[in-house]
This record gives sequence, C-alpha cells and structure tokens, in this order.
Amino acid sequence: MNTESFCHLIGGQCEAGNATMDVRNPATGEVFAQAPKAGEALLNAAVTAATDAFPAWSASPIDERKKALHAIAGAIEEHVDELASLFTREHGRPVPAAKAELLGAAMWLKATTMLDIPVEVTEDTDDRRIEVHHVPLGVVCALVPWNFPILLAAWKIGPALLAGNTLVLKPSPFTPLTTLKLGELIKDVAPAGVINIISGGDELGPMMTSHPGFAKISFTGSTQTGRKVMESASRDLKRITLELGGNDASIIFPDVDVDKVAEQLFEGAFHNTAQVCVATKRMYIHEDIYDALRDRLAQLAKDAKVGDGSQQGTRFGPIQNEAQYRRVLALIEDAKANGLTLIEGADVPEKGYFIPLTLVDNPPEDAKVVTEEAFGPVLPLLKWTDVDDVVQRANDTEYGLAGAVWSSNIEQATATAHRLDTGTVWINQCLQSTPFTPLAGAKQSGFGQENGVAGLLEFTRPKALFIPKADTVA
Ligand code: NAD
Repeated sequence: MNTESFCHLIGGQCEAGNATMDVRNPATGEVFAQAPKAGEALLNAAVTAATDAFPAWSASPIDERKKALHAIAGAIEEHVDELASLFTREHGRPVPAAKAELLGAAMWLKATTMLDIPVEVTEDTDDRRIEVHHVPLGVVCALVPWNFPILLAAWKIGPALLAGNTLVLKPSPFTPLTTLKLGELIKDVAPAGVINIISGGDELGPMMTSHPGFAKISFTGSTQTGRKVMESASRDLKRITLELGGNDASIIFPDVDVDKVAEQLFEGAFHNTAQVCVATKRMYIHEDIYDALRDRLAQLAKDAKVGDGSQQGTRFGPIQNEAQYRRVLALIEDAKANGLTLIEGADVPEKGYFIPLTLVDNPPEDAKVVTEEAFGPVLPLLKWTDVDDVVQRANDTEYGLAGAVWSSNIEQATATAHRLDTGTVWINQCLQSTPFTPLAGAKQSGFGQENGVAGLLEFTRPKALFIPKADTVA
C-alpha cells in the first residue's frame, strides 16, 4: 500500500485533482503529507457520480449491499497494520488504539449487515392491507470529525449503503489520509459512484451542506457546526442526523470501591487523550471518598506515559490539531487565572501538541472548565453531598449526550440514571456503544440517532402502500 500519495474516490476512480493541503503529524507539529483538496468541480463530479449510481444501487438486492459492507470490512482487516501506522501519523493516537478503532469499524460494518429494513403492516383486513416500507433517500452527504475518523465514517457508510443510498463522504481536514487510503482499497467493492470520498479544507463542508444534489446530511461534529449544518439544510429541507458535542457527567456514590473504579474512571475521562464525545468531562465525586479518589486519579495521571503514538509504551498521544491544542490550553490558563487548583500528570514532550493530563480540584460550578466541553485532557473533579443537588448540577447544561453513575447499589444507580437528561447512561461502566443501540444526543447534543434499526431508518423515508384485497373501484 502506497502511503505517500493520496487521491479522492470519485465514480470508482482515484482522482488526484490539482490542489493539495498540508497534513501535520500532531506529535511533531510538522507537515508530513499532502492531501488532495477538492473544490466545487470535484464536489459536483462526486455528487453526479453518486446520483447516477443511485437508481441501480437502490434497486439492488439487499444481500448485494451487505456483501459490499463485508468487503469493506475485509479490506480494513487485511490492511490494518499499514492503515494503523498511517492513522497514528496523522492522528497522534498510539498504534494499538489506532488498530482497535480500525478493527472496531470493520466489526461495526459487519454487524450492520445483521440489520434488515422492516416493513410495517398497519392494517390487514378483508378489504385491504396497508404496508409501510422504508425506501432510500438518494445521495447522502456524510461529514466526519477528526477524533474517530474511521469508526465514525463506518457508522455512516454502513447504514447509508445498506438502506440503498449512495454517498459522498468527507473526512475532517485534520485527518483525511486514512479515510482516503481506505477509499483506494474499497474502490471496487461496490458499483462505481456508490461510495465517493473527497477531502478538502474548511470551505468544503459548507459547500456540501448547501449542495442541492444531497437528500440527506449525516453529520458528526461540534454543536456549533451542527447548528450551521441544520441552518444550511433548512433551505431545501434536506433530512439531517446530527451527532454533536457533550459535557458528560459521571456521578460517583460513596459506596464504590475506590481502588477498583479509579482505573475505569480514569480511562473513561482520558481515553484518546480525552478527545471523545462521550468521555466523562465533569466528575462528581461524593465528599466521603473525594480525597481518596482524587489522589488515586492523580497517581494514574502521573504514571501514564503521554507521547508520540508511534513509540511503544505510549498510552496517550497528543491533542490532534493545533486549534484544539490552543483551545484546551486557554481553558487551563483561565483556570489558573481564576486561582483554581490544578493537579498535573506526567511530563509531556516539548515538541508537538502535548498537554499533561490535568485534574482540576473542586472548581466552582460556573468555572469555564466545568461549563465548556474541553475535548482535551483537563478534567474537573467536583464534590457532592446530596443526590438531588448533584443530579440538578449534572443536568444543568445545554448538552445531553451521555453520562454515568457509579455505585455498588445498582437500584440506587439505576434510579439516578433515569434522572439524567442524556441519550445514554452507563452504570458502573463507560464509553460503551454497540451497533444495535442508538446513540441519540438529547438537548443540543444531537438531532436524530445513529446505530441500530432506528439509526438505519434515518437513511430512509417511510412510504405507505394501500393494497386492495377486493375490488375498490365502484
Ligand atoms: P467540527 O464540527 O469542527 O467538524 C466536523 C466535520 O464538519 C469536519 O469534517 C469539518 O470539516 C466539517 N465542517 C466544519 N465546518 C462545517 C460547516 N460550516 N458546514 C459543514 N461542515 C463543516 O468538529 P470536530 O472538531 O471535527 O470534532 C469534535 C467535535 O465533535 C466535538 O464537539 C465532539 O464532541 C463531537 N463529536 C460528537 C460525536 C457524537 O457521536 N455525538 C462523536 C465524535 C465527535
């Protein structure tokens, strides 16, 4: 596999185009590759290819579409080592975790083929039968963020194609390469034009959401951008699914075994250097165990190696891009300027976009580091005493993506979980999702859902058929 040159996938062809953009390795901050940069002409070509491919693809048997998803999964599995090494260079994540994402994406695609598109019968009498079918929408615009570039692409490719749509997918400008390479590997798994992948700069996303050739936008990214996507889609009433930001709370009851839960809580907050939409971003710890758990977490932060993801033994990589790095640094500076107590983890390399894993010791509820989605390794630990109060504080946010409750009393934890205004709540676990369970952000964390039959149906529209059994014409 050539990992030095990259191309768009348009109409089954590798298209280099005539413009490129820099791709940086976040572990060094240096440019290491050029990605092709699509403008309006290549976007139009991709939409035309997808539009032309739609009639035959949507009419093809579902088993043929499932075969294509298996073939994509197979290509990922076959090339996982080369893809993982490229992934680490552009993303920063340690190689084993990069591999885990790639294999997770393959698993997800295969699992999606276990789903079928239901036909609902709403009436079946002597006179007539009413069937509700779910038919594909047309050409899907799939927009993917940088934090899980391959897994989140698979979450869109799988159901969009299975439902009979064709698609144009755009990776983030910060992490285009692994997706483009995957495009090259899968260019023949489906008829030309069924899957198109184009990369581009900041201007390409808005160009896509306003393009009249798309019937649907499937977007994963920040809430701020999600609002723009929704506004843009409103002009011609494109269907939308938005998976957006979060400021997830974990509530930890005093009856947990601190030594047992500390590692899981730590991973739940800092996995992928805390660049996870459903990471714990506010940790509410009961006052009885606050000091003990804070100290355990601080020790874990001291012991974890943060560094270049291509080096063995690295547990956490850099922040993925400079803009995000500056945003997280600004939050830390704000915390310092307001006199908050910070507890820093292990030292980090000087070069590259590295920030030490940082705990903030019981900041006030209105500190920026509590109210904003950090999306980086700065975690506020907050004390609580009263369960009604902590539930109110956990819910006091515009976000509603996920949350977690930790207690040895499952009944108490479940009752608390029911009170959290989020799309997902984990009990004594975190960061879990399955191909059969919808991820559906509440409040400003999303609109619609991904995964499961409900997520699949977001790539369809209902079509009711009234079928007479007797002669209805008088
Ligand atoms: P982002 O919103 O900046 O970008 C997401 C994608 O949209 C990228 O491909 C980007 O190029 C494109 N884009 C940017 N501006 C656009 C515009 N005006 N119109 C159309 N497209 C545009 O997000 P990001 O920084 O890449 O990702 C981080 C955010 O994503 C975090 O807020 C995180 O919580 C969220 N996220 C959510 C989920 C979820 O499932 N809910 C999963 C992962 C990440």
